[in-house]
Formats: sequence, C-alpha cells, structure tokens
Amino acid sequence: MKLGQRIASIELFAQPGSTEPAYQPVLLWDENGATLVDTGNIGQLDQITKAVQEIGLQLSDIKRIIVTHQDIDHIGNLAAITAEHPDIEVWAHADDIPYITGEKRMIKMTDERLSQMPEAARTAIHSFFNQLPSIRINRVIKDGEMLYIHGGMRVIHTPGHTPGHICLYLPQEKLLLAADELRVVDGELVGPAEAFTPDMQEAVRSMHKLTDLPLEKVFCYHGGLYDHEPSAHIAELIRILEQA
Ligand SMILES: [Zn+2]
Repeated sequence: MKLGQRIASIELFAQPGSTEPAYQPVLLWDENGATLVDTGNIGQLDQITKAVQEIGLQLSDIKRIIVTHQDIDHIGNLAAITAEHPDIEVWAHADDIPYITGEKRMIKMTDERLSQMPEAARTAIHSFFNQLPSIRINRVIKDGEMLYIHGGMRVIHTPGHTPGHICLYLPQEKLLLAADELRVVDGELVGPAEAFTPDMQEAVRSMHKLTDLPLEKVFCYHGGLYDHEPSAHIAELIRILEQA
C-alpha cells in the first residue's frame, strides 16, 4: 500500500491464503537509498523479497533497517537479510539492542511461553536465537533525534510495549509510523496488545508524546492505516486507557 511519496507498506501474511496481512513493515526510498522499517516474522524473507520487487526495488537497494523494537515479529528476518546483504546498516534504540543481538533473552520469549509452543515452532525459534549474535547494530538512535531520511524523520521513544520501542514521525507527510504502540482493530485505533505489553501504564504514558504532532495518517504494524482524525482519536484512547 502506498503511504506517501516514495513510502509503501509491505504486507506479510501469517498463513498462505490469509486475506489480512499480519505484519506490515514500511519501505521508504529517496536519494540516500532505501530504508526498511522492521522485517516481519521468522521465515518471511521470500515474502519480503517479492514485496520489495513489486514496489520496483531490490533488497540490495536497502541501505538501512530501522528496528522499532525487539519482538520476534519485527526482527524475524533481520539476521537473514543482513547475512545476504552485509552492507545494510541496522539502527535501533539502545534499550532494546541487547535483546536484538541475543545478548539478553527477548523479554517476551520466556521459558513458559516457549514451553507452550508446538515442537516445530520451538525448534525454529531456537535456531533464530542462534542467529541473533550475528546482528551488528550500526547506529543507536535516540528520542527526539531527526534522522536524515525522507526529508527528516523524527524518532519518538515510546517505552512500555518493550523498553526500547520507538515510533517514527514524518513531518512532510504528517505520517506517524506507530509500530506496536497503536493498532487498528476492526477499523478502530487501539493501544498495544495488553498480553504482549509488560508495562501498559508506561505504554499509555508514552502515547502522550504522540498527541502534539500534526497528524493526518497513522500507520500501525498490526492493522495498517488509520486516517480519521488520528490526533483526536489518540487523545480519546489515552482517556479511555487511563480510566481502565
Ligand atoms: Zn508486533
């Protein structure tokens, strides 16, 4: 889906034949090369490669991958992509880096959760864990920083869903890439999935950082585009979540 001038989402499906994409990384490209925001869940490299080609680019056109946070459905193909294309830089917030590089166990991959998974999934995740130490982080990105991408892209640190979760704001497009801080469910803008958000209170506090942005569009990794007065709906969402 086209999200703006030289910005498109990549639709990744959890199962063959699914009609709704489960994960939606974003590809932006300009004179400084292409930037991929997040990389889908494990085993989706073929889907990503095809989707990038449908946009008219190649994986080798990607100069950098920005990781919004450590979760497996966001870094699932990071090692696979950078193994094929070692020149691609990886950028992330400091608070999630040790989990992305395998120095610490990803916070939601508890022994309990792993033990509830089918054997095949557990095996796949263990081989994924083994790939993580190959990931090199080239740049640590900070809250408030304006990245030299697409005429300026601001980093907004939004901890709660994970400690180093970030959103990305594109002022030229009045577009917020919300990652997992916000979702669209049945056409409604909602907060992060509570079951996968260890600090929901902090996630709600982080939402306050999004209310002052001039916004026309919010793009959520889960649920896609939301463009009906997003600022008013974020403010309303905060009110509801703070009462809960
Ligand atoms: Zn996610």
